[in-house]
Amino acid sequence: MKFNVAQLLKATVGTTREYEIDDGISYVEDVPVSSNVVGRARFTRTPRGVLVAADLTLAASLTCSRCLEDLEYPLHLRFDEEFEPTVDVVTGIEIPGPEDELVFTIDANHILDLARAVREYALLGLPMQPLCRDDCLGLCPECGQNLNRGKCSCSNALVDSRLAVLAKLLEAGTLSTSADPDRAGDRRS
Ligand SMILES: [Zn+2]
Ligand SMILES: [Zn+2]
Repeated sequence: MKFNVAQLLKATVGTTREYEIDDGISYVEDVPVSSNVVGRARFTRTPRGVLVAADLTLAASLTCSRCLEDLEYPLHLRFDEEFEPTVDVVTGIEIPGPEDELVFTIDANHILDLARAVREYALLGLPMQPLCRDDCLGLCPECGQNLNRGKCSCSNALVDSRLAVLAKLLEAGTLSTSADPDRAGDRRS
């Protein structure tokens, strides 16, 4: 995602260039990127440098935080960032670097590289707890089966044992329901 902006830097303020982007980055931090970065960007000459307005999509390979299956997470990035030159395009004289290290810069060969900006914005868009789908059922805590693929036998056993406890309580008469009309009547009288 490298663009030579030497000509744009020589142009008058307000001059624009449009670019179609279809390019690869492999990782955002430690998250693999499974698609190309696709979209468009408009570069505008500003008094200080080049303003990039980007509209891009890509897909990240994530793991569902509940069922641990792989998933493709689509990201749509929209950002406006100004890139500042580090060398004067006409004189070739070095421009004192910006005080803020977070500022995006154009290198000494007038190359504007969008990769860092794409990575930073993609990182902001990644979910903390990715889900393969909103209602993912996750894994059985007992046997580890992916419950999206069907019930395991221990979920039935768990329900059975709970029902057994309930049945015993009812049998022993320690559990009553307020919906019982006779007992409700007793209490009132
Ligand atoms: Zn899942
Ligand atoms: Zn299970």
